[in-house]
Formats: sequence, structure tokens, C-alpha cells
Amino acid sequence: MQDTATQAITSSYLDEADRFGAHNYHPLPVVIERGEGVWVWDVEGRRYLDMLSAYSALNQGHLHPRIIGAARDQMRRLTLTSRAFHNDQMGPFLRELCELTGFERALLMNTGAEGVETAIKTVRKWGYQVKGIPADKAEIIVCDNNFHGRTTTIVGFSSEFEYRRDFGPFTPGFRRVPYGDIDALRDAINERTAGFMVEPIQGEGGVIVPPDGYLRDARDLCSRHQVALVADEIQTGLGRTGRRLCCDWEDVRPDVLILGKALGGGVYPVSAAIADSEFMDVFRPGDHGSTFGGNPLAAAVARASLEVIVEEGLIERSAQLGEWFMQRLRAIDSPHVEEVRGRGLMIGLVIRKSSGPARPFCEALWHRGILAKETHQQVIRFAPPLVIGRDELEEALAQVEAVLST
Ligand SMILES: *Cc1c(COP(=O)(O)O)cnc(C)c1O
Repeated sequence: MQDTATQAITSSYLDEADRFGAHNYHPLPVVIERGEGVWVWDVEGRRYLDMLSAYSALNQGHLHPRIIGAARDQMRRLTLTSRAFHNDQMGPFLRELCELTGFERALLMNTGAEGVETAIKTVRKWGYQVKGIPADKAEIIVCDNNFHGRTTTIVGFSSEFEYRRDFGPFTPGFRRVPYGDIDALRDAINERTAGFMVEPIQGEGGVIVPPDGYLRDARDLCSRHQVALVADEIQTGLGRTGRRLCCDWEDVRPDVLILGKALGGGVYPVSAAIADSEFMDVFRPGDHGSTFGGNPLAAAVARASLEVIVEEGLIERSAQLGEWFMQRLRAIDSPHVEEVRGRGLMIGLVIRKSSGPARPFCEALWHRGILAKETHQQVIRFAPPLVIGRDELEEALAQVEAVLST
């Protein structure tokens, strides 16, 4: 029940964030204080179904007991050594990560953007040392509508005006092609091309699924021209799309794989650039690093995060429930819906322009106990924790149906 006293509590938190924080986000005005599995509770005691799961960083759900247990155990022993010394968690984590993904080596970082930066450095150095590109001439091809993070280098090759405006000058050496257009990629490749970096499904860009065969064709092109294929699976990886990696949908093996988000089990930022030795062996002591990358707490948390995804069958669950949920969303008879698209439990519901932006629909869902967030004006993204059950999705469906039919 909502009364003025509890409303005042919410307001005081919103006021503090507004007064003392930079205004670089536009969140829903809900203040969450507790989470468990697919549920979160606000400071007024109301319960919500989390249909965003921190952009897939919470694939395992809030406070997964096994991940929290691993974090607790590790916190009692050792949290940080820096890479000046070894720790007893990093080696096993690296091995497990390589075994799961099928690559030879990994380089551990913290945030997704750092994983992307690491992949860029890997591919450039490989381009000079292995491919033989003349010094400082390497190019990396990226896609229109990409999202790879927020560093100055990364926003420099974004096609989003807002991400770039007044943050220049930017890092040279990037070239953009339309997403899903294999001919454009072919035309853009030249002898100075070191890599092609792509999201197998564009997440922040609005859950854009490329045409069937695009990744396979890109793989072929890259192989033929000795270009490193870099898959940014920070959002799509680790079960989100109903496969281990989204590239698995087309049996494509990238040269460099970037993981983040769910690798940290919703507890701790953990990211990695993962590749075979041909690429990773370009690194020498001193040429790249991170104080926190590969720390024992991160490694212990990530080991548990991977175990949960595999052992609890979250990949299969995402595939099955995702297909069913998408069908049910498509069956909703609403004048507002233009399209429902996605794979597994990574789903975008596109609101028709004539019905206005997606934001008011997200606000209406919030009032009905469903937390979802718009991306790119017209798209409502549904990406719940993969531990979600059919009953909970039914509950979400009822509310989505109610909101879309008014
Ligand atoms: C979220 C995301 C990133 C950036 O990750 P951060 O942890 O926010 O730095 C990069 N690429 C993709 C595809 C993402 O979804």
C-alpha cells in the first residue's frame, strides 16, 4: 500500500541522486533495496518482476545462493593481490573459461568496455605483428548502431550522435558499415583491415537480429582476407539468446570473443577477451593490464557464475522459455505493436511510432509490477534473469497484454 510517508522515503532517495549525482541516466523513479531471484523490492515494500536483469548482467538472478556463497568464502580469504603476484583463483578460472568457450587463452578485465578495449589492442597488435600491416595504419571495421561501451575510443566509432557529442577528438582507425549488410563489409575490407567487431545481436541498438547467415558470411570473409572476427558477446553471451554464445546459432567461431556482464553473476564486474594463442601471444609483460583484472574475488565469483549457467541448465531454459514467450508476445492483439523480435530470452517489442515512444509503456508496466526499460525510443526490451519460470513469465504476459491493449 502506498501512503505519503513511504512516498516521502522514495522522494528523498530520488532527490539525493538528483542533487549529488551527475545526470547521465534517465531511470524509472523506483528505488530498489532488495532482490532475490527474479524479484526486487522497493523502499516502499512493493515487489517487482525484474525483466531487465541489469542488461543481462543478472542472468543467474539476484543473490544467487551459490554465487553469493562463493563471494563470501572468497572474501574471508583473499580479495586482491594485483597481478604483481599470482592468486589461487585466477588459474582455475582461466582454465574453466577457456574450456567453456573453446579457446586457448583469456585476458581478464573488469567492465565490458575494458574487454572491448582489450580486444581492440589484441587485434591491432596482431595486425602489425602477424598480418604485417604497416605501423599505425591498422583499421577495425565496426557496425552502424553498435554499442560497445563508453570509453572515448569506443564512443568515437559509435553512430549515435548523443554518445559522441562534445567528447571528441576521437581515436582514428575505425570504419563503419551498415549492420547485417555483408556486401558493405566486403567492400570495406582492405589490406590494412585488422579486424571486424560485431555484436551477434545488437542489444542497446534495439535488439536487432541480423539476417540469417550474416555471421557465417562474415566469418568466411574474415577468414579469406586474414581479418580477425571479434564477437562482442558481452550482452548476448552466456545463455542469454538460448545458446552458450549467440555465435553458436550459426556455428561461427570468432577469433576474439568478448564476455562481460553475466560473467560476474550480478555481483562483481568481470570481463574477458578470449582467443587462441595466435592472437593472445602478442601480449608481453608491461603492454597491457589492470589493477583489478583477474583478482581472486572476481575469479571466484565468475567461476560460480559459469557453474550456475551450465549446471542449472540456464541455456536450455532460455531457449525454451524464450521461444514460448516470444510466441505469446506475438499473439497479443494490440494496435501499438509493430514487431516482436529476438532470440532466447533477449526480446525486443517494438512500439509503433504512431503510438508514441516506448517509455510510457514501460512506466505503465512499472505501475503493474513489471520492471522493463525502453531502448532506442520505440523498443521495450524483455531480458529477465534466465532463472525465471513459466509462471512468472505468465504473470508478466498478463501485465504486458493489459498495458498494450489500452
Ligand atoms: C554493456 C555492453 C558493453 C559495455 O559493458 P560495460 O560493462 O557497461 O562497460 C559492451 N558491449 C556490449 C554489447 C554491451 O551490451
